[in-house]
Amino acid sequence: MRAGAPDGNDLFIRDAAVMLGAGLELRQATNISILDGKISEIGAARRTGGQRILTGKGLLVIPGLVNAHIHLNDAPLKDAGHGKSLDELVHPVTGLKATGLRSLSTAERVRRMSGALDEMVRGGITGAVDFHEEDISIIERLRRVNRNSEILTVLGRPQRYFSDSDISLNTGFEEDEIVTFDRQQRKFDGVCLSGANEYSDRAMEQIGAMRKGLSGIHAAESAGTVERSLRMTGETEVERISARLRPDFLVHMTKATESDIDVAAKSVCGVVCCPRSNAIFGVGIPPISRLAASGLEIALGTDNVMVNSPDMFREMDFAARIARSSALDVLSVQARETIRMATVNGEGIIARGEGRGIVEGAKADIAIIGMHGVRLSGTHDVYSALVHRAGPGDVMGTVKSGRLLFRGRGLRMEK
Ligand SMILES: [Zn+2]
Repeated sequence: MRAGAPDGNDLFIRDAAVMLGAGLELRQATNISILDGKISEIGAARRTGGQRILTGKGLLVIPGLVNAHIHLNDAPLKDAGHGKSLDELVHPVTGLKATGLRSLSTAERVRRMSGALDEMVRGGITGAVDFHEEDISIIERLRRVNRNSEILTVLGRPQRYFSDSDISLNTGFEEDEIVTFDRQQRKFDGVCLSGANEYSDRAMEQIGAMRKGLSGIHAAESAGTVERSLRMTGETEVERISARLRPDFLVHMTKATESDIDVAAKSVCGVVCCPRSNAIFGVGIPPISRLAASGLEIALGTDNVMVNSPDMFREMDFAARIARSSALDVLSVQARETIRMATVNGEGIIARGEGRGIVEGAKADIAIIGMHGVRLSGTHDVYSALVHRAGPGDVMGTVKSGRLLFRGRGLRMEK
C-alpha cells in the first residue's frame, strides 16, 4: 500500500508504548487489538482472524489529536492579509475572509479545504470541530471527494447577524428565519455563533431554545470585543452568553475577567483556547492555567486556516510555554496536561461528556508516533518530547474509527 493510502482492515498493534486512558498513563511493550472500529483489548491481547499486524517497536500510540476549533473554509486564503487586525480579517460581514472567498471558484475552494484536511490527518488529528459560516453545500462537496472529512464535526449558524440597533432594541430572529435554520441545522452537527456582539439577547435565547447537537461560540477574544459588549449592553460577552445561549463550550476567553471565568465554570462544560491565533493577532494570551484551575475542561484549537497552520503539535508547544511564562510557574500546565488538552479534552468537547482516551471499548481514534527518529530518540521524558519537540513529521499513522487514514513510510506491517 502506498504511503498515505487508507486501509480498511482491522489492526493489531504489537509491542508499542501506549498512553492509556484519560490520564495518559504510559505503558511500554503493549498490544492493542482493534475490531470493528473499536479498541477491543489492551495488554496481552492476541491477534484475531484477519487483523493486520503492525510492528509497534519504537512507536508510541496516543489518543488521536483533536483540533477543537478550526475554520476550514478559509484554507484558500492562507496568509492573505498578514498583519491585518482581527476585525479586518475575519469580521463575518466585512472581513477580508468574507470578501476574498466570494471571488474563488467552488472547485478551487474545495481543493484547498481538502489539502488542509489531509494536512490535519497526516499530523495525527482524528477530530476537528469546524465553525462553518456558510450553508452546508461546500462541506457536502468536500465530503464527496475526501474521505478524511470523517474527522470533521461541522457546526453551522443562521445566516443573519444583528446590528447595534437590533441589539439595543432586542430584536430577535423572524419566525421564518428560525424555521429555515431549524431545517438547515439538521445537516450540521450543531450550532456555532460568531460572538455575543453579533446577536441580541432575544436572538441568543431563540438559538439556545432550538439548538440541537453540539453548540459553541467565540467569547472574550480581545479587549475590543469585551469593551464593545460592556458598552452596548452593560454586560460582558460571557455573562450574556451564559444567561441566554448556554452553549456547551466557549472559544478563546483570551480577555476573560476573573468573574467571567467563574460564570463560565458554572454554565459551560469547556473552553477551547487558540493561543497561536490570539498571539498572531496581537490580542493577548489566554489565561490557560487560571481557566484549568476553575474546573473547566480546556481543549486546544488552531482557529482560522488562513492565519494558522492546523498543526496541533505547534499549538501544544506554544500553549504550554505561554501558560508557564504568564503564570511565572514552571509547574503550571505540565506536558502531560497539555497532551490531555489536545486529545481527551477535545474528545470530551465533541462527545459532550468526558473524554476517555485509549481504553477497551472506546472508538479506535489514535495517532501513532515514531520515537526512533533523530528528533525524539534519546528523550528522558516522552510527554515533554511530544509537546516540545515532536511535529507532524513524527506521525507514522493516523487511525480513525479503526481505519488507517494515514500510513507514514516508516510504519511496518508484519506479513
Ligand atoms: Zn474562530
